[in-house]
Amino acid sequence: TMQIFMPLNFLGFVYREIRGALANIENLFKLLDKAPAIEDRPDSAELQVTQGRIEFAQVSFSYRPDRPILNNLSFTVEPGQKVAVVGESGAGKSTLVKLLFRFYEVTEGQILIDNQDIRQVSQQSLRRAIGIVPQDTVLFNDSIFENVHYARPQASKEEVKTAIRHAHLDHFIASLPDGYDTLVGERGLKLSGGEKQRVAIARAILKRPPIMLFDEATSSLDSQSEGAILSALKEIARGHTSLVIAHRLSTVVDADKILVMAQGRIVEQGSHSQLLAQDGHYARLWQIQQQDKEKD
Ligand code: ATP
Repeated sequence: TMQIFMPLNFLGFVYREIRGALANIENLFKLLDKAPAIEDRPDSAELQVTQGRIEFAQVSFSYRPDRPILNNLSFTVEPGQKVAVVGESGAGKSTLVKLLFRFYEVTEGQILIDNQDIRQVSQQSLRRAIGIVPQDTVLFNDSIFENVHYARPQASKEEVKTAIRHAHLDHFIASLPDGYDTLVGERGLKLSGGEKQRVAIARAILKRPPIMLFDEATSSLDSQSEGAILSALKEIARGHTSLVIAHRLSTVVDADKILVMAQGRIVEQGSHSQLLAQDGHYARLWQIQQQDKEKD
């Protein structure tokens, strides 16, 4: 009897696996359904980045009509400035980034880059102008060198190596068994969160887009990794307009401007010292993080 039942059991297992997979695909379609692909306007122009100035003008946004997420937000990032966004979880920080990338369109107001409404330009030209360092970077099953190189395939070997050095990855690579040729990704060496984020930074440095978005990893980093990321970030920010979604206040201290968000609004904005002097929301966040540091 065993011999008869085994295959049936096995078929049952296969059936459940397939059904599970189909359910997941359905969920995926439901998700895609919720975020309809944004279409370019028939008369859309190419975005012309001359200076790299970003402006949010009275922007409101909701994913669903009954739940406003961003409420009448206005701020500018002047050319070459580094602006950091801080605020508690759920305040709407990542939503800002999604809107700037035009994964969603604003419900009210405008987002402008060098005075061009991003709804009026092609998405391709918009996304070419913006480099993003995401929280979690996808690595391909290829050498660590190629994982950086693909960001700009025309780049020379030297350019790739320079980007790697500026991202403070060179010491790490020197310690690997095959150096630059070491295979990484699912089937190769697994990198830590901090190392992966530095790969993303090296890609961004190689691509050199006029505008940089940096979504800082929430995962805790050892202080060496954090230090390396901070100096790499400075390298990216040099001569570029950059917007940083920050989870650690150590990333924001040197920002030209800090936006403090709470419940979809900007509740304070200014430099680190200005905000400390205001003794409000930011000053409290700062105190809490300093206390946490002392505990470590
Ligand atoms: P964190 O620091 O935890 O990443 P955040 O400040 O980046 O948080 P957002 O991710 O921008 O916050 O989310 C703001 C609000 O929007 C949250 O209440 C979240 O539940 C909601 N939200 C985010 N994405 C969607 C979505 N695709 N559909 C519906 N609601 C969403």
